[in-house]
Amino acid sequence: DVFYRELPKVELHAHLNGSVSSQTIEKLISRKPHLDIEHDMTVIGKGQRRTLDECFQVFKIIHQLVDTEEDILMVATDVIREFAADGVKYLELRSTPREDKSTGLTKKRYIETVIKAIQQSKNDGLDIDVRFLVAIDRRNGTEVAVETVKLAEEFMLHSDGLVVGLDLSGDPRVGHGKDLLPALQRAKNCGLKLSLHLSEVASQLEETDLLLDLPPDRIGHGTFLHPQVGGSQRLVDKVLKNNIPLELCLTSNIKGQTVPCYAEHHFKYWYLLQHPSVICTDDKGVFSTDLSQEYQLAASTFGLSREAVWTLSQQAIDCIFAPDDVKQQLRQKWIDLKPQVF
Ligand code: 5GP
Repeated sequence: DVFYRELPKVELHAHLNGSVSSQTIEKLISRKPHLDIEHDMTVIGKGQRRTLDECFQVFKIIHQLVDTEEDILMVATDVIREFAADGVKYLELRSTPREDKSTGLTKKRYIETVIKAIQQSKNDGLDIDVRFLVAIDRRNGTEVAVETVKLAEEFMLHSDGLVVGLDLSGDPRVGHGKDLLPALQRAKNCGLKLSLHLSEVASQLEETDLLLDLPPDRIGHGTFLHPQVGGSQRLVDKVLKNNIPLELCLTSNIKGQTVPCYAEHHFKYWYLLQHPSVICTDDKGVFSTDLSQEYQLAASTFGLSREAVWTLSQQAIDCIFAPDDVKQQLRQKWIDLKPQVF
């Protein structure tokens, strides 16, 4: 539906290597035929589901395909272009810096390369404002978390405002948030914004309780926060009290089987509370979706009018990590575009 494509949108939860499109995967495969990777190993198609375990296997395969500076530059450039073509006006990309001894890739170069792609998209005149969140993979433990925060701090000061925050992601069943708390606290103290994957699976109540006290600036998923699915009112109250926005990714949660069906997605719970909730893609490549489609799915599942959908995309501006002047520019853009979209 053309309305959803033309709707100006804000994307706040997009993992770089999960966002790689089919076309880009083809280019990567042809660069690395020796890896013997087939296209269907990197994407979960329509109607297909995987366990969360299998989803994380997919990321490992994509990481094999993306292991040089050239790969990262191409992937980031393509992903930004695709989001812009989908009507996204403001994008926060997140990615876990990796090093690779065999290709000479370092974590610093990794971040620099993503920043280069963002700057090139600006120079090319794309109508999209892109920022970067440096990601911590929880699997890698305390030391790597601290090292990642230091890198993010450095880049926050020297990237013309492009690095705005930190993400905590990776397999939710591995590791414990208490080991990462000092690193996250440090990040917060130095002015990095925090977006944390919280309660993505049911077994994380204690960790979520602990990390909510930071408090984070946004929450990824938060699938099992509320009492109806085994969370608790205490957790919900902490989220409400601090007014922490949620990043909600419908198709990702269905395909990864943490939510049984669209109608039962926790979007409904938070939407009824009128709590700030932002529709996002998570991994548009792996889950074979885009942001227009996610808005359309939310609208058809929960019976949202076009006006309500508009308000939803507009209110996402309040949740971005870039400073107030950027929010003001975006609000003006939404005002200017409204007559064209309706
Ligand atoms: P990258 O950080 O390499 O650009 O993107 C892929 C990584 O993002 C994965 O290895 C994983 O750490 C993280 N990721 C992507 N999707 C999800 C998700 O749905 N849940 C969690 N917890 N982490 C994810």
